Amino acid sequence: MSKQLSFKLVLLGESAVGKSSLVLRFVKDQFDDYRESTIGAAFLTQIVTLDDGSTIKFEIWDTAGQERYKSLAPMYYRNANCAVVVYDITQSASLDKARTWIRELQRQADPSIIIALCGNKSDLEARRQVTKEEAQKYAEEEGLLWTETSAKSGEGVTEIFNTIARKLPTS
Ligand code: GDP
Ligand code: MG
Repeated sequence: MSKQLSFKLVLLGESAVGKSSLVLRFVKDQFDDYRESTIGAAFLTQIVTLDDGSTIKFEIWDTAGQERYKSLAPMYYRNANCAVVVYDITQSASLDKARTWIRELQRQADPSIIIALCGNKSDLEARRQVTKEEAQKYAEEEGLLWTETSAKSGEGVTEIFNTIARKLPTS
């Protein structure tokens, strides 16, 4: 029997960037145009199979982006092994917010936390405000994983979680 390790993953980012939609796509392969906004935080799990056949379990905390829940965030990222910080490629202010979350994680979270920056809504190319170059350059400077995703089409979603899974310590 191969072992199964569990890892805590937290999603952070401004309200309406698509955090809950990314989790819904990853866990249930569904998308919903009219999602109710998250209250507090939601908890979901998903199992990922690695190349060597072993599996890891993600325990996912999908936090609410609203300012009024901000003080709760440390509860979710404090013991997290990984964080996905999401922005919306059609809203440049959401990248500023993502940078703020990343600074907070770098100061307050476990130093070994794996941070992925994720530019969501890549299907809305015509409304793009954040270039790939800008985001990628910032991610490189900060040592973050980076990718663009569309929770709507599914593009890039499995890949980001798999990339994180491969980086997690398995012994
Ligand atoms: P959250 O507040 O960050 O959890 O964002 P939600 O997951 O609730 O999504 C906010 C809105 O954006 C909803 O209307 C979603 O249907 C929409 N949305 C989320 N992801 C995408 C995406 O990849 N593409 C498009 N076009 N819309 C998206
Ligand atoms: Mg949400």
